[in-house]
Amino acid sequence: MQLTAQSLDLRLSAPFRIARSVQTGAFNVLVRLEAGGHVGIGEAAPSPYYGEKRESVLMALDAFAAQLGDDPLLIEDIMGALDHALGGNAAAKAAINMALYDLLGQRLGLPLYALLGLNPARTPLTSYTIAIANPDAMAAHARAAREYPILKIKLGAGHEVETMRAIRAASDATVRVDANAAWTPREAVRIIAAIAEYGVEFVEQPVPATDLEGLRFVREHSPVPIIADESCVRLDSVPRMAGRVDGINIKLAKCGGVTAALRMIHAARAHHLQVMLGCMIESSLSITAAAHLSPLADYADLDGALLIAHDPFDGVCVRDGKLLLSDRPGLGVRTRDEPPEAATQ
Ligand code: MG
Repeated sequence: MQLTAQSLDLRLSAPFRIARSVQTGAFNVLVRLEAGGHVGIGEAAPSPYYGEKRESVLMALDAFAAQLGDDPLLIEDIMGALDHALGGNAAAKAAINMALYDLLGQRLGLPLYALLGLNPARTPLTSYTIAIANPDAMAAHARAAREYPILKIKLGAGHEVETMRAIRAASDATVRVDANAAWTPREAVRIIAAIAEYGVEFVEQPVPATDLEGLRFVREHSPVPIIADESCVRLDSVPRMAGRVDGINIKLAKCGGVTAALRMIHAARAHHLQVMLGCMIESSLSITAAAHLSPLADYADLDGALLIAHDPFDGVCVRDGKLLLSDRPGLGVRTRDEPPEAATQ
């Protein structure tokens, strides 16, 4: 199997501010795996918050190239070898893993959702994220986003009640809130009680990632469900979430790909946790990989590609918030300048 990697620079349409940082673009990596006349593609979306950046992804991919062997169908063996070669590096592993599923689907002539036995009609609606700005600007953004029936509102920089009041006056969409670990448990309880009247569906990661008892405290005092994101990274995080939150946000770039995400989904169900599928700032390549799993999720927040100025890939479509998967084999993703007839073989 031949692995090649190249930089994938994504520029955001507008600065993306959350409680702890602001982003104007993403420095991702495009992976190509060639085997048996097919080319599988994958995307790494490294997050410095989780200890990865483009340089570390490229170094990891270099180390992984020798572990791939010649049979792309041996996905479990390959992922085991990568884990053995190098711990962590989840974004790099996710890129290889989705490229392997792309190859498998092309080999068998089936889209990934079909390989997994999933019904593409069951994809949930994705939310569309309103990044932190002043309350009026966030309300204007919410008004402009009227094609999306679900909005995810980033909070955690103060003015929470004012922001939610302004957004509710501008939009009647379903709203979810993500504090990105910004509040103390007591602050969280107070703020959630104050914003609940604006019809909040759930609150994501109200307290710092390591404050698991804080999560439990907030959940016990919150009128709305609590979802863990930064606190729940990999499979072994899942059992710790039981009884502390109502659900978890799974991201391919956090956990290491489709194989790892499937394990997390099933572990979450075993612990009576709801499942949300989320993303980093990513192109339609890795967003589509996650969308193939979305019939298994209760909630989707797969808007990464909607936030970038020039999406180089054509994959899952979003219409009125609904994730629409194509029936092309594998991930079913093609580059935007590729003529349709070339992609359908
Ligand atoms: Mg989040």
